[in-house]
Amino acid sequence: MHQRTRILVTGGAGFIGRHLCTRLVAEGHDVLCLDNFFTGTKDNIAHLLNEPHFELMRHDVTFPLYVEVDQIYNLACPASPVHYQSDPVQTTKTSVHGAINMLGLAKRTNARILQASTSEVYGDPKIHPQPEPYTGNVNPIGPRSCYDEGKRCAETLFFDYKRQHDLKIRVARIFNTYGPNMHPNDGRVVSNFIVQALKGDPITIYGDGSQTRSFCYVDDLVDGLIRLMNANESVTGPINLGNPGEFTIKELAELVIAETGAKSHLTFHELPQDDPLQRCPDITQARQTLSWAPTVPLAEGLKKTVAYFRDHVAG
Ligand code: NAD
Ligand code: UDP
Repeated sequence: MHQRTRILVTGGAGFIGRHLCTRLVAEGHDVLCLDNFFTGTKDNIAHLLNEPHFELMRHDVTFPLYVEVDQIYNLACPASPVHYQSDPVQTTKTSVHGAINMLGLAKRTNARILQASTSEVYGDPKIHPQPEPYTGNVNPIGPRSCYDEGKRCAETLFFDYKRQHDLKIRVARIFNTYGPNMHPNDGRVVSNFIVQALKGDPITIYGDGSQTRSFCYVDDLVDGLIRLMNANESVTGPINLGNPGEFTIKELAELVIAETGAKSHLTFHELPQDDPLQRCPDITQARQTLSWAPTVPLAEGLKKTVAYFRDHVAG
């Protein structure tokens, strides 16, 4: 009998989780999606609810969980600055207590466990592009710290569980990812700009728009996560997953306006505190150890994302 891999995806009803669950179900695995619906929605995984090998569980990762699984993708954590700053204590608890609980589960079940870490561990980087050995430039007491330091502490826990208990860990440092099914009120730049453009509202640029980000299409990212999870035992990461194409926020706004044909004009607002000025992944390690590199250029990914938002929020 074909043994299905039992896979737990925490934060599975969120943006990336939705795409990961969809792909894992399509590959024939037994998927348990866990979410407390803080930023995720049931609509995101509604298309999977009738699948016999998909299961949805409402649960908060800051509380222990007892299930039997072979692999754990730990994605639970709000990713948009607007949302993670709205309850910063809960954000740190989600990253830290959540990591402890999921690592405890992995220890008991002997499961492989992958942490969705972030380029935010590099803070406002002084080295560009960012390679994995760079230890970062993070403010421990600012408004972004609940997320950045929470994720850094989660990485510490992952590597201590490996050293102390020989756990099978993987740590992915994810750079800005976008695509269909981002929440329209998510607050992140790609969804904000597309929704504003489709409504003909002004495009809100924070600062002068010269800060840079590197945008990875969600299908590419999911492919990287799955490759990392299934790479040979010696691969732990941390490993950068992102698209090295680097754009200023102003360039992004212009691309969105061109793609939507919007009449929107740009408005300039104060740059939030500690907003990183530049960000671009060095993906040499991902290329070498996972044979992975993104395949979807920004213009093409934006086309697909705009099409999604046109169908779902326009009007
Ligand atoms: P998202 O906000 O859409 O999804 C996060 C999911 O986690 C949501 O469904 C939310 O309800 C759930 N969640 C939050 N707190 C929880 C808790 N305590 N218990 C259970 N569920 C909880 O964000 P996303 O973009 O899908 O990000 C997924 C993961 O990837 C996050 O860990 C994020 O930090 C990481 N990441 C994302 C990006 C990106 O650009 N999207 C970049 C770097 C890292
Ligand atoms: N940003 C912006 N307008 C918006 C939302 C975001 O100019 O409506 C900027 C933000 O200040 C940052 C970049 O876009 O410099 C990316 O922001 P996002 O919240 O998507 O992610 P971050 O990489 O900062 O976590």
